[in-house]
Amino acid sequence: MSRTHAVTLIPGDGIGPEVTDAARRCLEATGVRFEWEEQIAGQAAIERFGTPLPAETLASIRRTRVALKGPITTPIGTGFRSVNVALRKELDLFACVRPCRSYAGVRSPFQRVDLVIVRENTEDLYAGIEFAAGSAEAKKIIETIAPLTKQPLRPESAISIKPISAAGSERIVRYAFEYALAHGRKKVTAVHKANIMKCTDGLFMETSRRVAKAYEGRVAFEDRLVDATCMQLVLRPHEFDVLVLPNLYGDIISDLCAGLVGGLGVAPGANIGDAIAMFEAVHGSAPKYRGMNKANPTAMILSGVLMLEHVGEADAAQRLGTAVRTVLAEGTAVTYDLKPTREDPTAVGTSAMADAIIAAVQAQPMSARASR
Ligand code: NAD
Repeated sequence: MSRTHAVTLIPGDGIGPEVTDAARRCLEATGVRFEWEEQIAGQAAIERFGTPLPAETLASIRRTRVALKGPITTPIGTGFRSVNVALRKELDLFACVRPCRSYAGVRSPFQRVDLVIVRENTEDLYAGIEFAAGSAEAKKIIETIAPLTKQPLRPESAISIKPISAAGSERIVRYAFEYALAHGRKKVTAVHKANIMKCTDGLFMETSRRVAKAYEGRVAFEDRLVDATCMQLVLRPHEFDVLVLPNLYGDIISDLCAGLVGGLGVAPGANIGDAIAMFEAVHGSAPKYRGMNKANPTAMILSGVLMLEHVGEADAAQRLGTAVRTVLAEGTAVTYDLKPTREDPTAVGTSAMADAIIAAVQAQPMSARASR
């Protein structure tokens, strides 16, 4: 009998509560025991505590060291900064790992895609160092850098700072290589725009090349420009294996790769630090489907599979992963987005798709479930 795993569960906003409930039920169906610490963040937390990220939620994750998190809405342009970004920074979850693979039954432009995005999570333009146009801070920065650069900035410019460090780059690239070794992957591709951003992306590229030397003969390495990578990904995705990227490119390419394998509904993710890990789908809170029992729970359930692997429940991860693949391949008890047309009357809701996955877990032969 395996031990009980304490996990912080954050339902999140929009479709979050529905898809996290589906994931929790599927995880429990594997027979692994969990002690869930349910905590709030995002809109629900603002309503109750006046802050989108309460101290108690952070304290719970620091205690359990593992979190399963639903998507959280971020107001665009104004309002509070992204809770997702804040959580990753606050807990130093420096590596965002997003496996993208094709599934039988999921319509997509390509078959047999199997690649992994490793995105740096703490630096780059996502570091949250921003100054509004016309603010005293922005003006001061513009005045300070004016004598240092030969290209004067417009005085009313808004400023976002892009910090990239050798230490941050080395940590993520090393993680990508170690991930490749641990998962039998053959190649790491570092993605950058070092021809234009010579200092920041140049440092990321140089660091990648240096780290790669330590893995020579074990994992192949190449580095590519981000624009060329976008084109090659949509022409020849099978040429890629593990991609390691700075924060912003990682965010954008993750969605591109989710598109390659059939969309956000089937794209799981993990945010990993030295001591803490947080698992969440790549997709957002899809507010228009909130409370409708319509959203596809697959990405959240597959994030749960990554969590099972992380806590050492490889057998349960295997069984739940197989059950998800079975339901997807059958294509019967699946949500609207996995049907041939969006109006297909045979589409089922979020909870019914989770029920089908649970039934598929329970239908597995006893030998496959023996290690409960
Ligand atoms: P989104 O991922 O919520 O939605 C993009 C499209 O995909 C929409 O058409 C949506 O309906 C659809 N979609 C997403 N998930 C789906 C699912 N499980 N099943 C079926 N359809 C699904 O992205 P968005 O609209 O850009 O963002 C909405 C909100 O989510 C924003 O506030 C954004 O900041 C936030 N967001 C949060 C996270 C996170 O918590 N990690 C990630 C991305 C976006």
